[in-house]
Amino acid sequence: MTNATNDLEARLEGALLLPGAAGYDGARSVWNAMVDHRPRMIVRCAGVGDVVAAVRAARDMDLEIGVRCGGHSVIGLGVPHDGLMIDLTPMAAVHVDPAARRARVQGGALLGVLDAQAQRHGLATTAGNVSHTGVGGLTLGGGMGWMARKYGLTCDNVESFELVTAEGEVLRVTRDEHPELFWGLSGGGGNFGVVTEFEFRLHEIGTRALTVECSFELDQGVDVLRGWRDLNAEAPRESTFTASIGPDGLLTVGFVWVGDPEAGRGLAPRIAALGRPVAERVVEQSYLQLQRRDDVTDGHTLRRYWKGHFLRAFDDAAIGAFLRRGSADGTGEHLPNVGLQAYGGAIADVPDADTAFAHRGTLFEYVAAARWTDPGEDADRFAVARRCAGAVEPFASGVYVNTLSDEGDAGVRRAYGPDKLARLTALKRRYDPQNAFHLNHNIRPTG
Ligand SMILES: Cc1cc2nc3c(=O)[nH]c(=O)nc-3n(C[C@H](O)[C@H](O)[C@H](O)COP(=O)(O)OP(=O)(O)OC[C@H]3O[C@@H](n4cnc5c(N)ncnc54)[C@H](O)[C@@H]3O)c2cc1C
Repeated sequence: MTNATNDLEARLEGALLLPGAAGYDGARSVWNAMVDHRPRMIVRCAGVGDVVAAVRAARDMDLEIGVRCGGHSVIGLGVPHDGLMIDLTPMAAVHVDPAARRARVQGGALLGVLDAQAQRHGLATTAGNVSHTGVGGLTLGGGMGWMARKYGLTCDNVESFELVTAEGEVLRVTRDEHPELFWGLSGGGGNFGVVTEFEFRLHEIGTRALTVECSFELDQGVDVLRGWRDLNAEAPRESTFTASIGPDGLLTVGFVWVGDPEAGRGLAPRIAALGRPVAERVVEQSYLQLQRRDDVTDGHTLRRYWKGHFLRAFDDAAIGAFLRRGSADGTGEHLPNVGLQAYGGAIADVPDADTAFAHRGTLFEYVAAARWTDPGEDADRFAVARRCAGAVEPFASGVYVNTLSDEGDAGVRRAYGPDKLARLTALKRRYDPQNAFHLNHNIRPTG
């Protein structure tokens, strides 16, 4: 160990892991099994003091910084190769104040912990659909979930951030304290520092949820999706419409309902009536079960690649492109799963200028998601997923920053648009002029 490494270790409350140490490989492994980055050191942070020490040490030692929470960045941005990884996972505590309807959440917590703690009181805030996703990355990019149409994105529900800046300063950031930074942290990703604590507003949602899904043969797809789109336009905010084509090659459409299931059941026959379903599923479950429903399908250990788009409209041409999945007739080898999730409602109520998160007029978010195990298929899986999503791109208005993978600067431009990107660039220049935090969907201080 060098003197600098010894000094860092002496200052830490948590542990410093070097290659070969027990726990090193576990700490650097992430959701996408393709990612095999080997940090020069990992700081397992026990608190804000450790984060400050890690940021300062990385800068003194000129090491690239990676910030890891849930490890769900599709391309493993949280884990720097040969750099210093700020591992926030030991900082996973959630404290709920039911009377004030607030949750204080440490920067390394997973969504499942937040959901579980809040649901003990019948409360929740918007969180993503898979419980092992990190609160950190999800919230900082926006945060879409089954409650967003009713209560806004996860970032819309933040009251305050505790932030460690590139200088190692600790700031409390609210709408009134450092308001420009508050704007930037509401969708601008991990560009401005390390968030060590989020404070969220919670909502009384009860504990129940309902999922309705009907599957149809693809030859009914155009009519089914037209009807599904039109039904979505009048759907209550408790519902989030979904559509997907999975490994069975069927088109599955329906909705997730958060709240009293009886109130949602009335919509179910209208989904079935969109065509001649070959399968119907109506599942009533607890909100916590819903939030863990996809944990296994979307679990760790598989190779992964994603492409996404935001769609402001879904006309017949877009429907056709969605159904064909970049092939002539919607069939073929190694086709990714494709899905649509409805936006609108409270997401669109927030004026677009209020947050760094952009594209609030989105109607549906599209994602093409490939998963496989054989490394020999890597190149083909990438190519087919790109072709599939490429066919929908002419109908897209932008992209969600948290769905970006390897698009680089072009993806960041699509995520924010020119005006927001200029404002984010100015903020970056002010808080991180050396671009110490660049392992993210990067906003460059130089523009
Ligand atoms: C299975 C799966 C399901 C998903 N479902 C949804 C969903 O329902 N809704 C949705 O909106 N998104 C969803 N996503 C996308 C998800 O929001 C992003 O992948 C997000 O980056 C994951 O955050 P993380 O903390 O888990 O990832 P990490 O890889 O740990 O972090 C990603 C990046 O976020 C930044 N970061 C993380 N924590 C902090 C922090 N505390 N302070 C500063 N920077 C930080 C860093 O730049 C880091 O590189 C899903 C992703 C996966 C893989």
